[in-house]
Amino acid sequence: MHPNDPSQISRRKVLTAGASLGCAWVLLRGTGEAGGVLLQAKGGTKMPFTQPPLPYALNALVPYLSEEQMQFHYGRHHAAYFRNLNALVEGKPEAEMTLREVVKRSSGSVFNNAGQAWNHTFYWHCMSPSGGGEPKGELAAAIERDFGSFQQFRKAFSDAAVTLFGSGWAWLAADADGRLSIMALSNADTPLRYDKEPILTIDVWEHAYYIDYRNERGRFVEGFWTVVNWDFALARYKQRNQPEW
Ligand code: MN
Repeated sequence: MHPNDPSQISRRKVLTAGASLGCAWVLLRGTGEAGGVLLQAKGGTKMPFTQPPLPYALNALVPYLSEEQMQFHYGRHHAAYFRNLNALVEGKPEAEMTLREVVKRSSGSVFNNAGQAWNHTFYWHCMSPSGGGEPKGELAAAIERDFGSFQQFRKAFSDAAVTLFGSGWAWLAADADGRLSIMALSNADTPLRYDKEPILTIDVWEHAYYIDYRNERGRFVEGFWTVVNWDFALARYKQRNQPEW
């Protein structure tokens, strides 16, 4: 099981991982609300789903995303989806499922919060302070095969992200046989609901960029390519039939 699977990670592991992030957690704990994610296990009751730590510091993606933007997005919005989900599933069968299972099987408010919890955890890993550049290996070959060239893929993905009406996510997704597609999905929707495996995503809810970019979604999407984590995407592509996520 992948260490970032929110349903499997133990509280001790979360605390250890959080400590390794150093100042990131100190800042989060300072906000109170976000720090509550770690402290939800009050009275010895373990919440079924725990928000995993960011894979980098809150300021690691500057200048693309400011620390304030990340504080609100990770520490407020993402944290709230976990908090809401835990409240909704308390004492219900979903509390015993993995987060992926809840995303695939649920509907209504449970789905909305589970989907957003899963999507954001995936999204953080789609970016890296050492990201950018072009895809490698068999993912690069599949992108050329299915979109013509990396440049054509990049334009099609950006267009899908910029033109998605309202709130949602643009995805690169793979079928079991490796065929790639771009999906522009509304709200919490995800390729997991269409039996496709997520490879890469960008969040285009306004809360993802409003502090740094105001209404300029196009500039926010363009900047994504400076931090995109192709190593993560390649790993997801290789493991599409036995996903660790
Ligand atoms: Mn978001």
